[in-house]
Amino acid sequence: MPRRGPQQTEPKPFFWISLQDKPGPEKGRLILHDRFVGWSGRMELEIEVLSDYLYVGSGNFDLFPLQGREQARYTFARRNGQLVIPGTGIKGAVRSIVEAISNSCVLQSGRRERAPRSHKSCGGVARGQERQTDLCPACRLFGTTGYRGRVHFSDAVPIGDVQTTTIKIADLWPPKQFKGRKFYQTKAFQPQDMRPQKNYRFLEVVAKGTRFRITLFFENTTTAEMGLLVRALGLALHPEKEGSIVYAFPIKIGGAKPRCLGSVRLHPKRIQTLPASNEDLFQTLLAGGERQGTKAQLLAWLADTTLLDQQAWSEFREKAKPQVDAPCPKEVY
Ligand SMILES: [Zn+2]
Repeated sequence: MPRRGPQQTEPKPFFWISLQDKPGPEKGRLILHDRFVGWSGRMELEIEVLSDYLYVGSGNFDLFPLQGREQARYTFARRNGQLVIPGTGIKGAVRSIVEAISNSCVLQSGRRERAPRSHKSCGGVARGQERQTDLCPACRLFGTTGYRGRVHFSDAVPIGDVQTTTIKIADLWPPKQFKGRKFYQTKAFQPQDMRPQKNYRFLEVVAKGTRFRITLFFENTTTAEMGLLVRALGLALHPEKEGSIVYAFPIKIGGAKPRCLGSVRLHPKRIQTLPASNEDLFQTLLAGGERQGTKAQLLAWLADTTLLDQQAWSEFREKAKPQVDAPCPKEVY
């Protein structure tokens, strides 16, 4: 097949949030885990698959029957026989958005991608130097080498009986240059015929509408940090209607993002917080935590924009909007 010229290539399914010659992140002291300050608690969420498919790799293969023969496919991650989305993957996805909307350091750049000096990774925290180390907002919240951070996700497990299916995709060639922070769009998956071919692979996936349950744990966070975190889950204040929350954009998790897999919507279901520096903390723990209406709590956190980079936030919201009628590239790009 002749190589296609650049004018014929399909539009790429990612976007960049440029650093726009911004000064580097505003750094601050990290928060230690030795006492309760600010917000600590948990948020239970449902993950809904919005794209045609979600693929979360396990590093394993299995064989599936295809046209009377056995074919190898990459399998979906499982634990004890049950499908699972590891919490670390979701944390990574949410962290990338927090990095972008808080003008934090660029942690997730590949070996060949070079972040400018202004946004060079904060680096690790040396043992015994915790009280002297300054970190950007994302590293303070999500951690870095030597500091475990104050936000964690449980692994996500399916809700109800979930069946997987198999799709075929062309191999992936991610871009190598650095043009800012890279994110994938939400576009329509283009199915391939199921004929086995060189440079194509089969994936075990779950389909649109599949739901998973997950818990987000936060510890000693500030209201401004919760304002960032809730936005990075894809939620925002309604632009006109006061007291309303909207889904601003889907977030992208799992593998094969260049084939437009892995757009999900996060639905907060329940929030439990512990009161900070309260003498009755032990009683509260026994009673199962302080309960605040989920929506009222989200609104209170979203109201704090102290750590938000408004320009990056507007740019991200605009570019991450789903383009469900736009086709995702099928072939190598
Ligand atoms: Zn950092």
